[in-house]
Amino acid sequence: MSGAARTPDGTRSGVPDRAPATRSETLYAEACRLMPGGVNSPVRAYRAVGGVPPFLVRGAGARVWDTDGREYVDYVASWGPLIAGHAHPAVVRGVVETTAFGSSFGAPTPLELAMARAVTEAIPSIEMVRMVSSGTEATMSALRVARAATGRRYVVKFDGCYHGHADALLVKAGSGMMTLAHASSASGGSADGSVPASAGVPEELAALTLVLPFNDAEAARAAFQRHGAEIAGVIVEPVAGNMGVVPPAPGFLESLRDLCRSTGAVLIFDEVITGFRVARGGAQARYHLRADLTCLGKVIGGGFPVGAYGGRRDVMQVVAPLGPAYQAGTLSGNPVAMRAGLETLQLLDDAAYRRLDGLGAALADGLSAAARRAGVPLVVNRVGSMLTPFCADAPVTDAASAQRADTARYARLFHGLLARGIMVPPSQFEAWFVSLAHTVDDVRRTADAAAAAFAA
Ligand code: PLP
Repeated sequence: MSGAARTPDGTRSGVPDRAPATRSETLYAEACRLMPGGVNSPVRAYRAVGGVPPFLVRGAGARVWDTDGREYVDYVASWGPLIAGHAHPAVVRGVVETTAFGSSFGAPTPLELAMARAVTEAIPSIEMVRMVSSGTEATMSALRVARAATGRRYVVKFDGCYHGHADALLVKAGSGMMTLAHASSASGGSADGSVPASAGVPEELAALTLVLPFNDAEAARAAFQRHGAEIAGVIVEPVAGNMGVVPPAPGFLESLRDLCRSTGAVLIFDEVITGFRVARGGAQARYHLRADLTCLGKVIGGGFPVGAYGGRRDVMQVVAPLGPAYQAGTLSGNPVAMRAGLETLQLLDDAAYRRLDGLGAALADGLSAAARRAGVPLVVNRVGSMLTPFCADAPVTDAASAQRADTARYARLFHGLLARGIMVPPSQFEAWFVSLAHTVDDVRRTADAAAAAFAA
């Protein structure tokens, strides 16, 4: 699928035919020879918007600089982890201090215990937690644990939600999968339910994943009526971030909670983005719910490679060495990553969330006003400090409505912003992230740049 994706400028690689005009273009040409697509994660390659990605060499606060010396206000924020901004002094100090004492032991350390305390205190549904090294590892392991705890095979996921790249979850997935699928198909569709959306995933595995429309409680009820006794777990982004931001419809998460409770399935909230982002206790604090298992990542690593899964004690007790579900990791609970995460979590008090929410609201309002003045249809979905401006003229509530957005217009907005020193995700189907380092002035500048981009 990804090989068929074409960039808006019609090239396959995005490498311009002419001689490189910038240092980023020179580096990208070499990177494309040495790395698939020139990148280590697909959506970084700018295929959905066209052009060459700037190579970044420095970040501080809300700003990043590329190798050509250009400065940008950054809303990518490493795709979510950098809620405190780039190179926050407390995080840098902590990382340097911890590294000097040894970067990894492969043995228990007090820092991972401190992280377990911080996570279980902030998210009461997590009674026991296991640290891993990425969000993918967290979701993959949570599914294994759900299957081990229930003795059942099927899992339910929702169209447009992305839970990392484990085989069973690459079925109607969001994020880069949705971006590439949209670029390679006029209809924007990627695959039918339970058909793998990535080459290399056996159909037999994908067939164990039931895919339902996000925000459709009726479809969930119907699926449970048909397969209830065989469903091990339901995994959901409680606020979707990977088809662009889509908040849960009132009652949707509650109905999943009820269905899982009544059938014995494990409710897994994938809070890799939303954990410590939309509230200290994640989406489950915001919507007053308790998941059985929760997956975390991004913010809890403070910009280092970290993930975690945890939840009900009786469910987590199936994890090795306590129980029969095997899961392990050489660098799991790495002390440097734990310190970066703990320093970040320390910054996240009530005032921090009020600030994040205020800045998020100001950015959403500024973008909406800019679009209105230019007569451009724009739907801005926002939960706290994560938001997506959809170039759409109708509400975006699920993957189907997200895919009706005008991705060519988004690409023009993206480049209009980039040219004016504002860096946002290079795809319509991603979240923009505001950090504690952004200012009211940054947000105003961004809205002005959007107004100029819409008018051009
Ligand atoms: N779950 C969600 C909701 C995500 O957004 C992501 C990544 O963006 C993942 C899981 C996978 O995390 P990672 O990229 O750290 O493997």
